[in-house]
Amino acid sequence: MIHRLQRIVQEVNRAPDIDSALVLITESLIQDLNAQACSIFLAKENDPGVLVLKASNGLNPAIIGKVERKFGQGLIGTIAARAEAMNLLDAPRHKKFLLVPNSGEVDFPVVLGVPIIAHREVLGVISVQRAENAFNEDEEAFLTTLAAQLATSIERAESKGRFSTESTSQVVKGVAGAPGMAIGVAMVLNRGVNLESVPDKKTDDIDGELKSFREAVRKVCAELTEQAEKMRATLPEEECALFLAYAQMLAGGSLIDDTEQGIKAGSWAPSSWRDTIEQHAYVFTQMEDRYLAERANDIRDLGLRVLRKLMLEQSTYLDFPDQTILVGDEVTATDLADVPLDCLSGIVSAHGSSSSHVAILAHALGIPAVMGVPNLPIKQLDGVDLIVDGYNGSAFVNPDKAILDEYSRYLEEEAAIEKDLLGLKGQPAVTTDKHQVTLLVNSGLMSDHTPSLRSGAEGVGLYRTEIPFQIRDRFPSEEEQYLIYRNVLETFKGMPVALRTLDVGGDKPLSYFPIYEANPFLGWRGVRITLDHPEIFVTQVRAMIRANVGINNLEILLPMISGKSEVDESLVLINRVRAEIEEEVGEKIGLPKIGAMIEVPSAVYQIEDICSVVDFVSIGTNDLTQYLLAVDRNNENVADLYSSLHPSVLKAMCQIVQGASVSDTPVSVCGELAGDPLGVMALLGMGINSLSMSVGSLLRAKKVIRSFSYSELTESLQKALALSDAFLVRDMYAGMLDERGLGGFIRAGK
Ligand code: PEP
Ligand code: MG
Repeated sequence: MIHRLQRIVQEVNRAPDIDSALVLITESLIQDLNAQACSIFLAKENDPGVLVLKASNGLNPAIIGKVERKFGQGLIGTIAARAEAMNLLDAPRHKKFLLVPNSGEVDFPVVLGVPIIAHREVLGVISVQRAENAFNEDEEAFLTTLAAQLATSIERAESKGRFSTESTSQVVKGVAGAPGMAIGVAMVLNRGVNLESVPDKKTDDIDGELKSFREAVRKVCAELTEQAEKMRATLPEEECALFLAYAQMLAGGSLIDDTEQGIKAGSWAPSSWRDTIEQHAYVFTQMEDRYLAERANDIRDLGLRVLRKLMLEQSTYLDFPDQTILVGDEVTATDLADVPLDCLSGIVSAHGSSSSHVAILAHALGIPAVMGVPNLPIKQLDGVDLIVDGYNGSAFVNPDKAILDEYSRYLEEEAAIEKDLLGLKGQPAVTTDKHQVTLLVNSGLMSDHTPSLRSGAEGVGLYRTEIPFQIRDRFPSEEEQYLIYRNVLETFKGMPVALRTLDVGGDKPLSYFPIYEANPFLGWRGVRITLDHPEIFVTQVRAMIRANVGINNLEILLPMISGKSEVDESLVLINRVRAEIEEEVGEKIGLPKIGAMIEVPSAVYQIEDICSVVDFVSIGTNDLTQYLLAVDRNNENVADLYSSLHPSVLKAMCQIVQGASVSDTPVSVCGELAGDPLGVMALLGMGINSLSMSVGSLLRAKKVIRSFSYSELTESLQKALALSDAFLVRDMYAGMLDERGLGGFIRAGK
């Protein structure tokens, strides 16, 4: 069964458009379920409460496109409304049965229908019919499983169809990643390491494309022949023959001819090569003989080798449009470093959510981002006009004039708000009843800290040191780290700077230190790695403490602390480093303040113990939320469940504040919640008076602080804690903001 299911899903995924996909499904189902008719109804794009017959096989083809059923109407509408399968031996006797005249269905009274559901939404209904013999349990299970699997493919195929006409304006929905709006041109990420991600692209330079294709093929041929020679010493002859067979495939024949034909028809070499490889691999996958079917992998392997060379030959992507909107399947933090920042206007990523690190970085850089767009037609977006709305998590593809005008107006309004806020730069962050709040910035990507200083930041509450590690191809040396840390400590001289020790693992990989784990967020991450590798930790702490000599504003922050013993072990190493440096420089060196990040639930329950050995704690709401709510911060499928305003998260934070107060340990917050206007209100209500955020959020946060009294925020927090759901908390605080005329600050989403 699994093979039949896989085959159908594969065929559908390969279909060029939704109509061909549906035809393929009906053909396959008639065969696989021994049915005599198969019909597919899909919800109308502009009226999702109505289903329309989109494909039918075995019934009168003239009815396709003409039969419509409202939810609840007829058997099909009932299946959709109940979101439940129906298996009937004599459908015409069912009270909901509604005959489609002239369809021929009277001959097929045995009916099995199942809903197609994706993301809680009924997309349509598939039904199969026959003259006699009820569909058995296995057949029902098969169709239900297939419908569940096809739902995503149908969603994707639908969006492919929608984007086929170049000039139509369309909107794609994801989740709000980083706030802001941008109008620009899409540039599809070109990692070039997998065939699926090669974007469609036209070329005017056919000769140039042919030349780079032939050059790539020549190089791979030469490499393969050389590898076969080398392997001869260690591998049996038949294994070496594989390399030669690959080389022969490239020496001429249909792989080359088909690709060159595609190029001559105007396609750029990588997508023409991708199409050729996919077609050839497909022919092999269809073969019954398992050995031959496996050869599809060889074709893809060869395809990848040539593609890699081809991408090196291509220099087209080095031209970044002025208003580049970076688009990709999974845009990562390091991808941002590839685009000159003055060209980067927005980000749209098929995967990820607002708490993915790339979204946090985008926020820090003031770049709007839309994450987790399930149906992003990536291949067709390169060079296309796009609007990114990072507030409500949508992007407009080929926006028409009306949408462009509307967004241009929003952008002007935004600029006016920002200009207004500039007046707050020199003003203190105090509530109306004179409660003082310290506003700090999160940093790590930029070496230029001028914007933070100009916006009135009083220090750095979180410096993510992993970023300089991520953009290199080896661990940075002590000296390299020293220079980076010295720069930031010097820039903020006289103000506290919390340098966080290396927090890699999870979704922050190092290319030169690969970690393979099934559950990286629950695995080897942050301080767990650095305690296991004291040489990395010690080098980093040495660089930090040396950089602090003569400046004395360093604070060291330990990430992913899950219990007091990890703090104790870190302190032993830090003290050792301090003693070593004292000996080297021949003078006493003060120990910097040491803080623990509280972002793992177990640390919440040990807060008093932890506070007994550190100078301060900083709440990492991004991870604390993910671990408390059991919601992967990067997973768009559960993005709706991720909210740092969830009453349980708020209660955990109150517990931290309460526990820390026993030893008078200062508490600050450096997760994204600290820069969210609604979060600012909740955190102040808990008595937290130190917030660290992206520089772009600072003035808005200050405005919020200056608009409320501490006592009213304390009171409203009690109300929030009594609510049962995150959205209720959100609504409550949003209402309060709105009343003060600050409704424009509310970020949609979480
Ligand atoms: C956090 O988890 O809230 C945090 C600030 O750390 P990061 O986002 O870098 O994991
Ligand atoms: Mg964290």
